Amino acid sequence: MSDILVLGAGYTGMAAAVRAASRTRRVGGRVTLVNASPTFTERLRLHQTAAGQSLAVHPLEEIVAGTGIDVVLGRVTGLDAERHEVRLDDGRVLGFDKLIYALGAVTDASVPGVDSHAYTFADHERAVRLSEQLGSLRSGTVVVVGGGLTGVESAAEIAEAHPRLHVVLLSRERLGSMMGECARAHLDAVLERLGVEVRTGVEVRKVLPDAVELVGGELIHSDATLWTAGTRGLPLAAGSGLSVDTRDRIVVDSVLRSVSHPDVYAVGDAAAVTQKFGVLHGTCQGGIPTALHAADSLAATLRGKTPKQFRFGYIHQPVSLGRKDAVIQFTRPDDSPRRWYLKGRLAVAYKEAVSSSPLPTYWLLKRGLVPVRAFALSAGLP
Ligand SMILES: Cc1cc2nc3c(=O)[nH]c(=O)nc-3n(C[C@H](O)[C@H](O)[C@H](O)COP(=O)(O)OP(=O)(O)OC[C@H]3O[C@@H](n4cnc5c(N)ncnc54)[C@H](O)[C@@H]3O)c2cc1C
Repeated sequence: MSDILVLGAGYTGMAAAVRAASRTRRVGGRVTLVNASPTFTERLRLHQTAAGQSLAVHPLEEIVAGTGIDVVLGRVTGLDAERHEVRLDDGRVLGFDKLIYALGAVTDASVPGVDSHAYTFADHERAVRLSEQLGSLRSGTVVVVGGGLTGVESAAEIAEAHPRLHVVLLSRERLGSMMGECARAHLDAVLERLGVEVRTGVEVRKVLPDAVELVGGELIHSDATLWTAGTRGLPLAAGSGLSVDTRDRIVVDSVLRSVSHPDVYAVGDAAAVTQKFGVLHGTCQGGIPTALHAADSLAATLRGKTPKQFRFGYIHQPVSLGRKDAVIQFTRPDDSPRRWYLKGRLAVAYKEAVSSSPLPTYWLLKRGLVPVRAFALSAGLP
């Protein structure tokens, strides 16, 4: 018997748990999945929630039905990697033989005022609170800080859903900086059409209750501020003695085991996974393959076999621009743009297929129908 504990039932923790359950059943693996909430949060859609759309609710127990996985509800407050113990907020202590750490990331709140005066996408509840605030405003300004894809998607979604509100998007760099010229031009054109005021080359110094203050002192009035600029791992990984990088992500080796504690695997946004082209950035596109691979590495180890090396390459940057437009930049494995891109209705359909794919993937995984190789091939690797 081996007790396998999976922390976090987001996109990657769920994938890892379902995969580990099916891969370790014959060698006596017992999988327990720990999560703070009883439902699955579709993080990819939190900007839709913030804009006021009500989305389907997926109870964790329904997703794992038939897998033999035990779901434990609770917030993880401590991890002792040496003693192989995890502590929950209600005082329970869970032991493990092998651990898959998939607790995602938190907002980097190092700029003063983010914690107290800005909305974030830390969880579903906070996205709902933002939607309530936006719904209560008859007019006013919404400031979205961060010109990454989450900031762009959020600004577009809010502007489309609330045309009476003025949306300002603040970014240090130009938008879509990792896209090709044509895709970027489409992104800029749609934001302009939706009336989003884009200001690039700016840096926020402070978030105030009714404004953001830029470096240089300029104040931009804000009735609601959404902070999407930067994430980092939870402090509990570093506190547990695991090796972490400068953004508190757990540093893993080529088979996705912690470099300091080989009984701990880390996946998704919580892990610093290095490939030839650099460290993966936090996406489902890269995260779900890490989850499947970590579960396979763990299963191979329990069977006394040598795990395979993880190899991954990106295929696309899918960006929704409200419900009626989107842009998909196809990429090389290192995430640099290829010539091809999609825009308009075709891109909307593509993006929707991407966003809704994780749940059917779990269903297929339960039935052993998704070979992990499929993800590597889809990523353009030989
Ligand atoms: C608005 C938005 C749009 C995005 N769009 C895209 C996109 O188009 N394509 C793409 O690839 N990526 C996109 N991303 C990024 C993607 O959502 C993340 O990379 C992905 O969610 C990472 O998965 P994860 O399992 O590592 O973390 P998460 O999905 O965040 O899951 C973490 C889980 O751990 C639980 N948890 C956290 N802390 C604790 C604790 N202390 N105790 C117990 N449970 C805890 C959480 O409740 C959650 O269930 C987007 C993100 C946002 C916010």
